[in-house]
Amino acid sequence: MDLVDKMDENEWNYHGEGNKSLVVSHVQMSRVLRLLKYSSEDAENAPQTTEETFRQMENIVDFSNNVMSPLLGDKFVHSGEVVKLPLEFVRQLSIKVQHHRPAWRCDKVMDIYSGAALCLPNLTTPSIPTHNPPLCVEIKPKCGFLPSPEHVSKDIKTKVCRHCMHQRYKVASGKWKRKSLYCPLDLFSGNRQRMYFAIKHLIEEPQNNFKIFKGGKCIHGDRDEMLSVSSLLQKLRPYFSCGNGRSKTVLHDFIQVLVDSLLSSDEEGDEGVERRLEGRMVCEASLCSTEFLRTDPQPLPRDSVLGRILQVQLLDSLDIEGLLPLYRRVEQYLHHFPKERSRLQIDGPYDKAFLEKLQKCPAEDDGSIEYAVAKVQQYRVAMTAKDCSIMVTLVPRRDEEDGSERAAFSFSASILDLDPKPQDGVRRQQRLDHRVVSAYLRDDPGPS
Ligand code: ATP
Ligand code: MG
Ligand code: ZN
Ligand code: MG
Repeated sequence: MDLVDKMDENEWNYHGEGNKSLVVSHVQMSRVLRLLKYSSEDAENAPQTTEETFRQMENIVDFSNNVMSPLLGDKFVHSGEVVKLPLEFVRQLSIKVQHHRPAWRCDKVMDIYSGAALCLPNLTTPSIPTHNPPLCVEIKPKCGFLPSPEHVSKDIKTKVCRHCMHQRYKVASGKWKRKSLYCPLDLFSGNRQRMYFAIKHLIEEPQNNFKIFKGGKCIHGDRDEMLSVSSLLQKLRPYFSCGNGRSKTVLHDFIQVLVDSLLSSDEEGDEGVERRLEGRMVCEASLCSTEFLRTDPQPLPRDSVLGRILQVQLLDSLDIEGLLPLYRRVEQYLHHFPKERSRLQIDGPYDKAFLEKLQKCPAEDDGSIEYAVAKVQQYRVAMTAKDCSIMVTLVPRRDEEDGSERAAFSFSASILDLDPKPQDGVRRQQRLDHRVVSAYLRDDPGPS
């Protein structure tokens, strides 16, 4: 891409950010630039060289193209390309975006040294002409199942899902003021009523799991001061006026359309994600009525966007606790044979061979280093799928000839934020898992 010489910071606006990157969108073209961030404490001594940053970006694209896209389905994944930006442009841009950034994200700063960025299609501004601007809904669903009892040391992990346990920890540590009632297991259940409640809770307390964009601008979620649900409904009303436009109907119809799009599958006679998950799809912390939990055991369609993500998440078959001995085997081996790191493709390259090794991993541990590496890589890929976001695009349709009461939309879904998780992230996960579970148990009054 050679936008490169004529880059003008006035043509780019702050669009959003996560923990690792900051995103700006072009005022006209349906494009975004995704730049890396790092902790401002490291600011003086830039954490890596320009060359390393470019290699990291190339790794992200390769991982998305060669690993995540085949696993999740290429219709959902847009990997983008690495571009080199003029440093003066990047510096001006960082000044321009600064006051749009939420305060709680400002512990990190944008990389202004390398000029490396990822150029991606802007998924919130699909180039389809419509009378009402398109609505896009971003969901960061997190992990949708409970670990198998075989591998965990604390019983609670087979009853309460990780996200719900983590909520208590996050509120106690001051990260969020209020607890979210969202439970991922309800969203991934395939049961329309449970999904309805999951989305309703996301709307009420979005934290960093939910955002709504209207015509490319974020109108709900991702800000310091929370927008009220009623002001959101005002903005949604024009799209759902075929009913009587009452708030309750607007909310109901909006959620129904979302559920439809999340369950939609191209595969004929989609059998659903396998039943081995029986008993591992219900979380005790969810407030969903037990009535819904028992009724309608509709499986999640395999080929739906949620079904695809869940299947990749399930590559974490051992839980962090079951994985740890294998991770140690790998670390020990690399300690003795550091040159093997590249042959074993620990940090890439993320190519076809990488995916093949991960997929051909034998079912039983044969004691080999290859087995251990493959399981660790499966875990890392699953981690990416637990951290990704879904972007659902809802394009209002003019034709109301189908006579239904509900507003008509055509929808499509994409999956974004598919970065590889670093090898030493496994250690960090293990410590976090321990902290989250202990904090939950400490606060738990136990059975009354
Ligand atoms: P996390 O903390 O979840 O790991 P991250 O730092 O890896 O996030 P992203 O999730 O990739 O960053 O991007 C940050 C935000 O920018 C997203 O949540 C989304 O709102 C927006 N965004 C990212 N890519 C696109 C895109 N291609 N089109 C539109 N918006 C995007
Ligand atoms: Mg993200
Ligand atoms: Zn839960
Ligand atoms: Mg990310």
